[in-house]
Amino acid sequence: MALQQVPAVKDLLRKCVRCGKCRSVCPIFKEIKNEGAAPRAHVFLTQLMRDGELGATADVAERASRCLLCKSCSKECPSGIPVDQMVVAMRHHLHDLNNDTTKKLMLNHMFKDRKALGRARFLLQSYQSTGIKSLVQKTGVLGLVSKDLDKANKLIAPVSGTMASKNIPETAPAKGKRKIRVGYFLGCATNMFYPKRARDTVEVLTANNCEVFTPSDLHCCGMPHIANGDAESAAAMTRHNFKIFFDAGVDVIISDCASCSSMLQGDYYDQLFQELPEEIAHFKGKIYDLNKFLIDHVDLNNDLGQLPAVKVTYHDPCHLVKSQGVTKEPRQLLNMVPGVELVEMVGADQCCGGAGTFSMGHYDLSRKILDRKIQAIEDTGAEILTTSCPACSMQLGHGLNEHAMPLTVKHPVEFLAEAYRQAKRSTKIS
Ligand code: SF4
Ligand code: SF4
Repeated sequence: MALQQVPAVKDLLRKCVRCGKCRSVCPIFKEIKNEGAAPRAHVFLTQLMRDGELGATADVAERASRCLLCKSCSKECPSGIPVDQMVVAMRHHLHDLNNDTTKKLMLNHMFKDRKALGRARFLLQSYQSTGIKSLVQKTGVLGLVSKDLDKANKLIAPVSGTMASKNIPETAPAKGKRKIRVGYFLGCATNMFYPKRARDTVEVLTANNCEVFTPSDLHCCGMPHIANGDAESAAAMTRHNFKIFFDAGVDVIISDCASCSSMLQGDYYDQLFQELPEEIAHFKGKIYDLNKFLIDHVDLNNDLGQLPAVKVTYHDPCHLVKSQGVTKEPRQLLNMVPGVELVEMVGADQCCGGAGTFSMGHYDLSRKILDRKIQAIEDTGAEILTTSCPACSMQLGHGLNEHAMPLTVKHPVEFLAEAYRQAKRSTKIS
């Protein structure tokens, strides 16, 4: 895909009035405080590349890599410039310069299909559970092999038990009268690192008259690929995934992962497809974040048991708050659960600095952004942190660990599932 053909670049470059509003909200600029790292610098770089005044060099690739794709700038820009889309276009143009072997390995082998993910999970679990990981950490040997490998080693959450997809039936029937057939997009990170969250998602949906179809042969949603400049792979995986749901005749598609649902909703369709394939067009407007689906489209079963009193706080993932405008729904779910007290943190909607694979390539910068977030969490006095994105969960979990804070990280749906189970236990006892 040539840079000139990307609509975001072709049509929007000239609209920048250089007002700097994007700068005031950019987490990267806040840390670096250098005009070269500001969102509008990305706009100019894209323009220079488009006009052939700037070549595809390692220096430009490094500059283009310094963006979380958090969309804060795109939301703020008075001219409506989707700066994040321009960064994605630029990264696609620069893709051949990407020599980050760890990321390439993950994108080309781990995050392509379910079989590859299963193999990667097996290797990772063996590595984490045999004591090799702590040995490797103590010796620092990975740092000698590759800087990125060393960082990935710190950031990747522990894998436990089996993959969620092994324990979820392809079709889970509604517990009451079926009202809707839901396609569950079980993303790679939830599948691998948060299997309980996936089981709770299915449990809550089936407890609310939904039949849940969870395909066993999904590919990654493609967000990590497009973020790293590989638009072709992202497009192929998107087509594959939608065809499965289309053929299965589901009514809607939901995901408990903010990144997956925003990717499926079409954050970057302009850059992936000239014309939307039929299967994708069919689902336009029928793809939901789980929190939003439960609040807006399900007559929620209110038979919720009393949980032990607990103070929780909620972090808004960028791909929910800025991509989808979902803020009140997860909070509504949490407020429904007896025993849960929700306390707001300062800057709940500010990026945690994870941004998928960003934290691997820019660990120190990412840590600075993360440390602000951890401080805000600590200030609330919350005992549990909630969020709706496995990538944020992983990044925040890493931050909590580094700060020796004993908080667990959960999705709001986990509280709902526990409250349903508690209600059942109470009925049996009485
Ligand atoms: S906010 Fe928009 S118009 Fe203003 S400098 Fe940034 S990109 Fe340009
Ligand atoms: S998407 Fe986020 S990190 Fe990237 S330039 Fe915009 S505000 Fe900065």
